[in-house]
Amino acid sequence: MSRYIATRAIRGANALVTEAEMMLNKAIVEKGPDTPVSFPNTAYYLPLIYGMTGQEIETIGQLQPVLSHARDLLHPVPSQNHWTPYLGETLDSGMATLLAAEAIEAIRFVYDLQPEPLPGFHLAGGTAFTNPDNGANGDGHLNGPIDDIQLRAWGIKLVDGRMPGFAAIVGCAKSNEVAVQIVRELQRRNILTFLSGNVNGRSIIHQLQEEGVELGYDTYTVPFGTDTISAIYALGFATRSALTFGGLKAGQARDILLYNRERVFAFVLALGEVDDLKYAAAAGAINFGFPVIADTVIPEILPTGVTSYEHVVSMPFAEIDGQDDLERAERLVQKCIEVRGVKVQVADVPVPVPYGSAFEGEVVRKTDMRVEFGGKYSRAYEYLYMAPLDDVVDGKIEIIGPDFADIDEKGHMDMGIVVKVAGRKMQEDFEPVLERQIHYFINGASGIQHIGQRDIAWIRISQAAAEKGFNLEHFGKILHARFHADFGAIVDKVQVAIITEPEPLEEWLGKAREAYDFRNRRLADLTDDAVEEFYSCTLCQSFAPNHVCVVSPERLGLCGAYNWLDCKASYSINPTGPNQPIKLGRPIDLEKGYWEGTNEYAAVGSHGVVEEVAMYSIMENPMTACGCFECIVMLIPEANGVMVVSREDTSMTPAGMTFSTLAGMAGGGMQTPGVMGVGKYYLISPKFISADGGFKRIVWMSSYLKESMHDEMQAVAEREGDPDLIERIADERNVTDVDDLLAWLEEHNHPALIMDPIF
Ligand code: SF4
Ligand code: ZN
Repeated sequence: MSRYIATRAIRGANALVTEAEMMLNKAIVEKGPDTPVSFPNTAYYLPLIYGMTGQEIETIGQLQPVLSHARDLLHPVPSQNHWTPYLGETLDSGMATLLAAEAIEAIRFVYDLQPEPLPGFHLAGGTAFTNPDNGANGDGHLNGPIDDIQLRAWGIKLVDGRMPGFAAIVGCAKSNEVAVQIVRELQRRNILTFLSGNVNGRSIIHQLQEEGVELGYDTYTVPFGTDTISAIYALGFATRSALTFGGLKAGQARDILLYNRERVFAFVLALGEVDDLKYAAAAGAINFGFPVIADTVIPEILPTGVTSYEHVVSMPFAEIDGQDDLERAERLVQKCIEVRGVKVQVADVPVPVPYGSAFEGEVVRKTDMRVEFGGKYSRAYEYLYMAPLDDVVDGKIEIIGPDFADIDEKGHMDMGIVVKVAGRKMQEDFEPVLERQIHYFINGASGIQHIGQRDIAWIRISQAAAEKGFNLEHFGKILHARFHADFGAIVDKVQVAIITEPEPLEEWLGKAREAYDFRNRRLADLTDDAVEEFYSCTLCQSFAPNHVCVVSPERLGLCGAYNWLDCKASYSINPTGPNQPIKLGRPIDLEKGYWEGTNEYAAVGSHGVVEEVAMYSIMENPMTACGCFECIVMLIPEANGVMVVSREDTSMTPAGMTFSTLAGMAGGGMQTPGVMGVGKYYLISPKFISADGGFKRIVWMSSYLKESMHDEMQAVAEREGDPDLIERIADERNVTDVDDLLAWLEEHNHPALIMDPIF
């Protein structure tokens, strides 16, 4: 252990705790001790303080004991001639630094100094399904802390390996070029990247802003702030992962730290000079088992009791082997990944633009667009089908018709993407599963945007991508490479046709529509009674160790990402993987949804935490949840019904809690009668809490669900024999507490009022 690092970390921690104390005293005088403090959209208070100490900080005054605790953790700077191991002291100083840093950010929120303003900054916004031309919240502020909604939305990617870990970058790169390269290398590997800090006032955030790199949730690059202190948000995120997915409770500091060390593959990359504060913050990260890699000369900390890998690694930029700075940047990123043992899988996709799922959410605005297919002015469709092995020429990519060279700038044209696959283990049932991947695969190319599916696909190619040489053939190259890389176990050959010529375009559209129709009917026939096995999903166990989803044809996984067909395909791809068939065996109670097979599996899969699971009830042995549910269903006893809150809805619900707070009750792999996390498509299933009365029990629902699933909901209302049912259901626009809810239900004649008592 280095005396040098210990000295500087302890010095940095002392200074920061003192600074926090001064700020707090000033705030108490100026604003009063009862002034509320909070981070936006989180149920975890000030998450690091909450996780580490269990304290629910809601006012400025409550920060006082936190800072006293931080002060208690401080140690004197090691003396020159006295040897001690220092590690314990260094780690304590690190923790003190984190507590102080979070307190400072909280106070800054009170003074409106967070999220940090940055003139001209524009945060990449909007999801893949919003209209790209409306998108973007360019309000001249950095992101600040990550909200719970985003944490949960990323949950599934973090668990299934699509997002193998996160990087906290602190400081400023050697040049703008190097900054861009580092971020691109991380994005290419789908590593979530948090940006903060500066060197002499200049931050990597400035560098990326100057180079026009889109920063935001959608591109996996989150700008926290241009000072070192804002790096605390990365550790607040790590703390919340343990609370959200790991079922850990606030105050279990040691377990939260261990959870991160074992399950969260994160590291800190310190760019440029490391000052006392950065040493102190680094010591904080080491508590979580996150190593620090610096691109300057600093003493290293070799493996000790905390981890089996180095804690601090020095890799001076100028000494990195490489032809030029770009190559050095790439090596630096590789080194970080090696040290932390981040498991990265990247398919080599031969396209002239950067490629990786970090680019999936990128938006191509009309002003940046070269050409579009589909949308308002043209039609695009995609169709994947299987054929006998001999009928498919692997790797063949045909362009049938003209490319977009003759189309005006920002113009449009019709296009069909037809993919023909063959494989010994391929089944017709897998066609829609694979076809749905086209969206993700094409979106992975930087500068290409894909929205929708089937015959309502909408694809844009940006000006920048076109200038780099991206053409129609590259769609085929992407699909060929990715289907082999991701579905190699069921797909042996992939052939692609990109069609723009009117006649074959029409002809294939006809064939595609026939297939869509056929699949729709097949899906409608695919009911729970029609199959002999359900599937388990234990993907989330890497984060929520005792949670299992039982996935049936009529009840998809709570993350919304895995339905029965997906699980079946995944089992064929990887027979020892997270999706295993559950033979139903003898039925025990078909109304509530108990079978011998599902009960046995639930007990084994949950490691004994759950003994039985009812597939169709929220009141009795409901299915457990990890943390990535799309919606929460919760009993409202007074209304004899349930409410459904969607992840996107941050407003107050009649249960007296917001989604974030409710999520704490629904997650963590525990069975809580009356509360359940579900995928939103389960809401429209005939098996939705059918044992408790079904869809008619819904008395309140986030308006987001009503609107985004309008047509599907209307179809359910008709199925339930009450075409006006959706209008009878209240939402946050008209009702936010139980009294108003009851009045609304009376006034709108909601059927739940006259149904049998729900319990
Ligand atoms: Fe996690 Fe369930 Fe989704 Fe599987 S289906 S990824 S276990 S939430
Ligand atoms: Zn999950």
